[in-house]
Amino acid sequence: MTALPLPRWEQPRTRPMPLPFSWADQERHLVRHLSALIRLDTSNPPGNEVAVARHLARELARSGIAHTVLEASPGRANLVARLPGSGQEPPLMLLGHADVVGAQPGGWSRPPFSGEVADGRVWGRGALDMKGQVAASLLIVQLLAAHRIRLNRDVLLVVTADEEAGSRLGAYWLWENHRSLVEAEFAFNEGGGQRFMTPGGPVYTVQVAEKGSARMRVTAHGRGGHASVPRSESAVFTLAEALLRLRAFAPESVLLPASRRMLGILADLHPGTGAQAIEQLLKDPTWDRANSLPIDPVLREFVVAGLHNTATATLLSAGQRPNVVPVEASVVLDGRLLPGELPDRWVAEVQRAVGDRVEVELLHGRVSHAVHDDPELLRVLGDTVAAHEPGARLLPYINPAATDARAFPETKVLGFFPSASDADIMRLIHAPDEHARITDLMFGGKCLLDAVLRLST
Ligand SMILES: [Zn+2]
Repeated sequence: MTALPLPRWEQPRTRPMPLPFSWADQERHLVRHLSALIRLDTSNPPGNEVAVARHLARELARSGIAHTVLEASPGRANLVARLPGSGQEPPLMLLGHADVVGAQPGGWSRPPFSGEVADGRVWGRGALDMKGQVAASLLIVQLLAAHRIRLNRDVLLVVTADEEAGSRLGAYWLWENHRSLVEAEFAFNEGGGQRFMTPGGPVYTVQVAEKGSARMRVTAHGRGGHASVPRSESAVFTLAEALLRLRAFAPESVLLPASRRMLGILADLHPGTGAQAIEQLLKDPTWDRANSLPIDPVLREFVVAGLHNTATATLLSAGQRPNVVPVEASVVLDGRLLPGELPDRWVAEVQRAVGDRVEVELLHGRVSHAVHDDPELLRVLGDTVAAHEPGARLLPYINPAATDARAFPETKVLGFFPSASDADIMRLIHAPDEHARITDLMFGGKCLLDAVLRLST
């Protein structure tokens, strides 16, 4: 491997004077930045994250914060900024990604890259995933710098490229090529902060782990021929039967300590029948019990995903001509693995489930790394949410999806950006009309700032 040139740090000389502080001013800054970031189209592919990196670099320069822009390939830029602390504790990272999934033209009531501000919301692709949290993280380092907060550790702002397409030119590239710049004890990232109202009060999720993956292909073979002669046996029918078996498949439940803790908190919050059902599930976990818990349906999805490896059929393919019986039919399964599970083992289990008339092969697998449930860190985050909404509790969970956390095996990456609105709003992620409520952004920003102050001062 050829050595990369050492990154050139921009160290602005000016340090702005602390300004009189008002939350109304912070809100204006946050909205202005988010709107500007949305207008920079970073649909991946092609990404073009350098536009966001430059915008952030200009802002950081204005605040006198050292930073560097590192391109993994032309246009695919990552930004690292560092606010120095005393070095007493290892660094804390505010992590975010600059790219967004593209936007299909249909279904949007406002252009997806308008960044329009209307009805108390900022509209456009990336408002929730995750330029809102990036804008808030920028604001936080700017505030820490402007108010000359004495930090007991360095605070890093790391904004990556390529998260939506696997993190290869972003988080993985940074970890492999510039590790010393992004080493941190823990990081706050996307993937948590959804609010749920339960009978026992509000909870906010925090991602303490995420699932690994096992992408598979299931292939059926059969005799080909002219489609004018119908047959009861064909690759297409064999595949269809395998898919029906997959639908009926109830994978074995695995109760990791992180899920046990989550269920314990949920039992507290659902007195009566909810708690009874959860107790039953804890004693004898099964797919059916998890799927019939009498709790909020989205929370139930998290419970189910946190107890099971899964396989979801996504891409079907068979045949090339309408009048030819294909000799092969296949489907891609998106498999998700609990932390520590091995892809090969899950492939073998799926093979048993769909039967031996089809072949299951692993296309790509990744083991998810550890669960980051440091009790002291979770206590601090729990105190933080309770300080911002009296009575609120923290709900550590295993994110079924993947984030940049996958690329930082030695950092405790937690998904934490609390949103004041109920979790329904998260349904807009990757969907048309994505938007963020300004009150949610401010709530998330205040919680995140508070957590950083509790942990770094
Ligand atoms: Zn994201």
